[in-house]
Amino acid sequence: MKPRITENQLRRFYKLLSVKMIDFDCGKLCSPRNGGSPSCCNNEDCVPILFREEFDWHGSNGKFWERMPPITKEIKKFIDESEDYYVFSRCPGPSGCKRTKRSLNCMQYPFQPYVTKKGEVLGLVPVDGERSECPLIKKPKRYFNQEYIVNSMQFWKELFALYPEEEELYINETNNYERRAKRKGIRIKLFTAD
Ligand code: SF4
Ligand code: SF4
Repeated sequence: MKPRITENQLRRFYKLLSVKMIDFDCGKLCSPRNGGSPSCCNNEDCVPILFREEFDWHGSNGKFWERMPPITKEIKKFIDESEDYYVFSRCPGPSGCKRTKRSLNCMQYPFQPYVTKKGEVLGLVPVDGERSECPLIKKPKRYFNQEYIVNSMQFWKELFALYPEEEELYINETNNYERRAKRKGIRIKLFTAD
């Protein structure tokens, strides 16, 4: 399969997203009710996804990520129906986590892009919206570093240029997000570059 992200582009993505999203350890917010470990790092429930080139790049720099075999029928179905440029992987878990080894997905959570029908990235919104169980996303916007928001929006714009499939995916996701918010009468919490 022809590579779609060059190593230079990957390095740029990592540089953009390695800016701190917040200035404290949010794992302390959710760990107490999740057996002492951050809930978004649970490899059993959240299947971490890396782009193929990202997975190979980490592999060439030492052992950290490894392919994740489907462990449940639901995960198998999810993998079977997903794009073939993803690699479903697992990490050593929070006790062995290294900041530089986190995936692009790890560095974005708990955000996803908010994208217009024309593909314009207007900002970031919480993954799962009002259904999110992440306590961080309930914090006021002032807790989140503006530079991170700006960089993350830039990351999405550049990623969409490489992966039109991702753009389409998030246009649909945003559409669903808007419909759900309208139905429930909820105001969308949009994080933008002010
Ligand atoms: S992002 Fe949310 S779920 Fe993940 S460690 Fe922080 S508070 Fe917990
Ligand atoms: S690499 Fe680190 S941040 Fe990412 S899922 Fe694993 S433990 Fe969590």
